[in-house]
Parts: sequence; C-alpha cells; structure tokens
Amino acid sequence: MSSLPVLVLNSGSSSIKFSVYEAGNGDRTKLVEGAVDGIGTDQGKFWIKDATGKKLVDQTPALPNRAVAFKLVADALHSGDFPAPKAIGHRMVSGGPTVQENQFITPALIDEMESYTAFAPLHTPIAVYIMREALRLFPGIPNFVILDTYFHRTMPEVAKHMPIPAEYAAMGVRRYGAHGVSYESIVYQLQPNVPEKLIVAHLGNGASISAIRNGKCLDTSMGLTPTGGIISGTRTGDIDPGVLLFILRKIAETATSASDAADKLEVVASKKAGLLGVSELSNDMRDLRDAIKEGNAKARLAVDKFTWTIAKWIGSFVAELNGLDMLVFTGGIGENDIASRAEICTDLGALGILLDAQRNDVRGAATISSQTSKVTVRVIPPAEDLIIVNHVVRLLGQ
Ligand code: AMP
Repeated sequence: MSSLPVLVLNSGSSSIKFSVYEAGNGDRTKLVEGAVDGIGTDQGKFWIKDATGKKLVDQTPALPNRAVAFKLVADALHSGDFPAPKAIGHRMVSGGPTVQENQFITPALIDEMESYTAFAPLHTPIAVYIMREALRLFPGIPNFVILDTYFHRTMPEVAKHMPIPAEYAAMGVRRYGAHGVSYESIVYQLQPNVPEKLIVAHLGNGASISAIRNGKCLDTSMGLTPTGGIISGTRTGDIDPGVLLFILRKIAETATSASDAADKLEVVASKKAGLLGVSELSNDMRDLRDAIKEGNAKARLAVDKFTWTIAKWIGSFVAELNGLDMLVFTGGIGENDIASRAEICTDLGALGILLDAQRNDVRGAATISSQTSKVTVRVIPPAEDLIIVNHVVRLLGQ
C-alpha cells in the first residue's frame, strides 16, 4: 500500500475536531490537525496545525451553523494545500443496540444510528449530520464509523443489564458506556505490558471510569447515555430516579406537552447539573479551582462531590476486579488537575493506592505513585485519533 491519508472527524456539540494521518505502509504519522470551534457564534475559531505544532491556518470566521463549519474543513482539505483524504473515520458515541461494530458507513446505516439519538442526545445529531455531509462533500471516499461503545461490548450481562421491566430492555435500554475510544487508546499504549487488573479514569468535561481485565472492559460507569455514572461538568451522573421524577413533575406544571417536559428535563440533567449545577459558577475545573482559592464554598462542594464520587467508583471497581495493578488518569482533568488526582487518591491507601506528592506535581504523562504504593498510578493522555486510524486501516483491509 502506498500513500494513504486518513481523515479523522470528531464532532462535539459546538466544535468539529479533525486530523489527517498518513497510514500507508504500516505508517501512522500525523500530518495535520485542526478544529472549527464556536459553531453558532459570530466569531468562531478555525485553525490547522502541522505535526510540529506550526499554525497553517488561524482564522476567526462567523460560524452561524454546522454547514458553514464543516464546509471550511472540506474546502481546506480539497484546496491542494493539505493531503486529500483517501478514507475517513468518524468518531461516534453510540450507534444504538443494532450498530455495535465499527463499520463502513452507508446512508441506511446513518438513518439507523440516528433513530437511537436518545442514547447520546448531545452527540448524535452533529455526528450524523457530519457523516451525511462527508458522504456528499468527499464523494467516492470510504467512510467508517468508530464507536465509543465498541470497547465496552465485552462487559458481562450482569454489568450491561439494567434493573427495568423486560419490555424496555428489549428496546435496547442497557449500559453501553462511552469514552471507549479513549479507553482503547490507553490499553493500546500500555501494550505489551497491559496489567491484568486496570482501572482508567477518563476525567474531562464528561467523566467516566472503567474496570478493565486483561485489556477487556469488565465494567464502566456511564450507562445508556453519557449522562450516567460519575458527576461531570454539566451532567448529574447516577442519581436516584426519584429526583428526576420530582423535577419532571415540577417542569410538567408549565410544560406545553409531554415531549416539551422531557426535553426540559434533559437540559436539567445533561446541561445544567454536575459541577455547574452544584457550584452555580462553572463546569470548568480551572474556574472552580480559582474560586476555591478565594473561599467559594459551593465550588468546594462541587469539586468534593466529584472527587468523592470517583473514589467510591474506584473502590467498587477494585472489588469487582478483585484487586488492582494499575490506576490511570486521563482526560483534561485527569492529565492536568494535580489537586483532583491527589484528592481522589487520599484515603485510598487501604486499597494499596498511594501517590507521591512530588511525582504528582506534573501535567501530562508520568508515573505518580509512591515507591511503596502497591498499585502503580499513571497519567497517560489518550491517543484517540490513532485508534480511529487503526480501525479504518483494518476495515479497509477487509
Ligand atoms: P476535556 O473534556 O478532556 O477537554 O477536559 C476539559 C476539562 O479539563 C475542563 O474541566 C478543564 O477545566 C480541565 N482542565 C484543562 N486544563 C486544566 C488545567 N491546567 N488544570 C485543571 N483543569 C484543567
């Protein structure tokens, strides 16, 4: 195989991130990366960097909608200034119960995944939009979907199954998990010495944690949707269902229809809760840390709730794994927030987890456990795009 530039597309609710890798001849070299950020605003950001970090494009265009944003990416990649892709990999949070394998994208497959938007309501609408646009703007180029849920498919039934009436389970309601491409990339980076009993905490604006045995997912905190599990930036995480019913009844007093009430409840649980809801200040850990320094009690409570919940999940996953060899922190908070790592690991000494304060005083990849810790604790940034490229190359070969 000669030159094979692979475009990776990773869309969020207000941004489209992308990268192009050279993947011919077993090679995996990042050529460029970029993003269009601030969709829905008058002054967004559009940038492209080369592999050395040099900015090749740096613009602040108006980004009234997704169409304008994605056209900027497509036009740049068609301009001749950058390597034109020969295959495209799309990151997708959840394809629903019928789409669980990474695969070639057809229009019918996009329709099928879109019919399960409720399984990742913040992520699916833009992801399917970008897939349709990519088929249109890059005609003749194979597109593949790479799912976050793919990594979690190895969970046993007892972890997947939800305690609900069978008729809903039959509709595909169960635990799927998310951040799977990140978890897969951590396991990939640990090869060939993947520990038998591993816990990875992906702590970003969305946060989740997974128990991994011999490289395979045993359990994960996120559920049917990314709203479940650990409290995160704007999401509740797991919560007494009675709380949602209480809020729903309050909303229903003024809602115009059942579907209006459901939409409003979704906004409360997914966009107004979590660190933002408790702190009444921000979903951004940096803002909360600054506020804590100034004595803000609500920010302190929000962050305590975050670290306390994660420590509880680590404890339960150690029980599930029947021990622990390694704990890995990743994601924006996991990689950068020294205090969160320290606070999570405080009191976990009984589980053999002991941090070295000096080693922990870093941002980015490092081993941060003390020499006497029974469990190795590491910080490893994810390599999600690389995993997507690997799947695309594998699928192209089939
Ligand atoms: P992600 O979703 O993985 O991009 O992570 C976003 C989260 O990482 C936000 O809560 C940020 O506040 C947090 N974060 C990024 N950089 C830092 C930093 N230097 N210190 C603390 N938190 C950070």
